[in-house]
Amino acid sequence: MKLLIVEDESKIGDYLRQGLTEAGFVVDLARNGLDGLHLATTGTYDLVILDIMLPDVDGWRILKSLRETGRNIPVLFLTARDSVEDRVKGLEFGADDYLVKPFAFAELLARVRTLLRRGSGPATETTLRIADLELDLLRRRASRGGHRIPLTTKEFALLELLIRHRGEVLPRSLIVSQVWDMNFDSDTNIIDVAIRRLRAKIDDKFTTKLIQTVRGMGYMLDEPD
Ligand code: CA
Repeated sequence: MKLLIVEDESKIGDYLRQGLTEAGFVVDLARNGLDGLHLATTGTYDLVILDIMLPDVDGWRILKSLRETGRNIPVLFLTARDSVEDRVKGLEFGADDYLVKPFAFAELLARVRTLLRRGSGPATETTLRIADLELDLLRRRASRGGHRIPLTTKEFALLELLIRHRGEVLPRSLIVSQVWDMNFDSDTNIIDVAIRRLRAKIDDKFTTKLIQTVRGMGYMLDEPD
């Protein structure tokens, strides 16, 4: 799951990015409104955490543009002012929830998870399955044939992406954009290395191989015929 944070206060931005990364999300952080507007309207995110008071392009503008482009992704806005007008305005502009600063990280994380569950219809499922492979999204656990498989955060994100797009060939560039954050120097060799490690964990010991290499195109997760 990939999140965008738009927050100009660097302490809060860094704190949120670190906490959410540790919670297993892939996180992009925009430190001003202009970058935030650009990323929100062009990138692919599962949720946006949007600060309202930004020095250049404010959060309202970003939220409005996001909705005008027809993007229906959940938006949680952060406001320093607990004014009724702000909350009403936010919800009118199509935000899904808000938090008043200062807030506890645990509270933010709970709201984020709720919005993601509510978000896109079938995403309400908390366990993804293919063959005897299971991915428990809430507990961040993977297992195959009932045996627990320890995965790193990146491996988990990679497997989640593959399993959500089962049967589709995913180009390396798409995998990079969804599993690594935007500051990542997109040397796609890292994908091959990550896939190799993931295979060693989820495929090597099993007869049925799920991760398939599609030469010259990318990778696909599927049950072989
Ligand atoms: Ca701010």
